[in-house]
Amino acid sequence: MTIPGFTGTVIRPNEAGYDAARTIWNAMHDRRPALIARPRSARDVAAAIGYARAEGLLIAVRGGGHSMPGHSVCDDGIVIDLRQLNQVNVNPRTRRAAVGGGALLGDVDRATQEHGLVLPAGVVSHTGVGGLTLGGGVGRLMRRFGLTIDSLQSAEVVTADGDILRASEARHPELFWALRGGGGNFGLVTEFEFALHELSELLILATFHPLEEARKVIERGRREMADPAAPGELLWTSFLRRATDTPWMPEEFVGRHGIMSLVEWSGDPAKGRPVLTRIRDELQPAASDLDVVPFLFMQTITDDLFGPGLRTYIKAGFADDLPDGLIDVLRERAASLKSPVSQVELLALGGAIARIDQNATAFPFRQARWLVNIPATWRDPADDAHEIAWARATYAAVKPYLSEGNYVNFMGDDEDEDAAGAYGRTIERLQQVKAVYDPDNVFQLNQNVKPAMNTA
Ligand SMILES: Cc1cc2nc3c(=O)[nH]c(=O)nc-3n(C[C@H](O)[C@H](O)[C@H](O)COP(=O)(O)OP(=O)(O)OC[C@H]3O[C@@H](n4cnc5c(N)ncnc54)[C@H](O)[C@@H]3O)c2cc1C
Repeated sequence: MTIPGFTGTVIRPNEAGYDAARTIWNAMHDRRPALIARPRSARDVAAAIGYARAEGLLIAVRGGGHSMPGHSVCDDGIVIDLRQLNQVNVNPRTRRAAVGGGALLGDVDRATQEHGLVLPAGVVSHTGVGGLTLGGGVGRLMRRFGLTIDSLQSAEVVTADGDILRASEARHPELFWALRGGGGNFGLVTEFEFALHELSELLILATFHPLEEARKVIERGRREMADPAAPGELLWTSFLRRATDTPWMPEEFVGRHGIMSLVEWSGDPAKGRPVLTRIRDELQPAASDLDVVPFLFMQTITDDLFGPGLRTYIKAGFADDLPDGLIDVLRERAASLKSPVSQVELLALGGAIARIDQNATAFPFRQARWLVNIPATWRDPADDAHEIAWARATYAAVKPYLSEGNYVNFMGDDEDEDAAGAYGRTIERLQQVKAVYDPDNVFQLNQNVKPAMNTA
């Protein structure tokens, strides 16, 4: 049975490549779709959606395949796999890029850096632009240039009815609003049009301290980032984890429980050097590195650490501050980390993210100061129970210190995580948009927004 009007590739069970094609990044999700359709165009996408609806098949949408709750693969249904829509066309004159809905961050970084331009997005190059953008998009340039959605100019969308639309501030503005933070609920994006920014290198300070010194490090970070005048060029991220094997890490520290921090300066390195030098001298790390590095180098530096075959379970939330009680809890929980990949991440927000009008996009948590991310990540299925329990217990201990909401891209599929948490005060407006563009909830494998008419 073929898909009428479909010119792309179709892979079915027992055909060559089926197992590789159904594999997503999080190895916890071992599912067997009835077919995998790889479109070559927006028309192909419309054909695949039409076929799925006619056959009553559940639709999973795959961009880069990094959904941690495994939304990009399903049992029995159809996976619409966008990996062949990965073209990136950069116009250096207008500083715009047209990016296929299945492109990876690395595709975008390589094409834009040829012109000394960047898209502010995530930090691991094999992540998909699609899922990351639709949920907001946090990364190393967010305090300077905003979330990934803040650079989005328009999107080509295939709706549940198979219509091919261009959404922007001028056309389908409610859809465009919803696409910027509302996840994959409203249609399948076949092309994103982004504004780009000038940047090709970063000044970075990477540090390691033993866990006993976590309080000193986090206090220093919160002081630096609590200042409302802190420059957008400055970004602070700390990781409570076991020390990684990086060139600047002395061998005796590798694997040791501690706190690694990455303080990044995305402006003129000459201006940032005194700032980062002062921070390093005050922190007196056990090991550190202060250097100017190419943007592309930083964007791929953890690609292998977070490579294929890993299993993950994630909890996360926002915080207005990092009070002493939270620091104590984090230090205690980090002491029981087992996997060398699991960590607690503290990401400073603010800057350009907070300056954008709260109602401009569907991302509801622009005023949050910190994102506290607890991704347990491991390789051996025998460690499933231990690692999941560690993440759950850590989240339970941290929760009293969190503000409202979840970052939709850092959510699992856990009992206490739901759309209301992901979308906060924007949920009702999102439900209205859903009712217009997907009233039958065809796109439901996501942090799902129910159409307005069905919510009573
Ligand atoms: C190793 C790793 C690193 C990460 N780093 C970051 C980071 O730095 N910053 C950050 O913000 N997030 C990060 N994330 C989270 C990431 O943003 C989400 O996992 C996101 O869903 C990944 O998008 P994807 O296209 O790769 O995933 P997929 O699994 O392919 O897609 C996830 C969902 O997004 C939707 N979707 C994807 N593409 C489209 C499309 N073109 N049209 C419509 N819907 C679509 C679908 O609902 C789909 O089910 C990271 C995740 C991992 C695993």
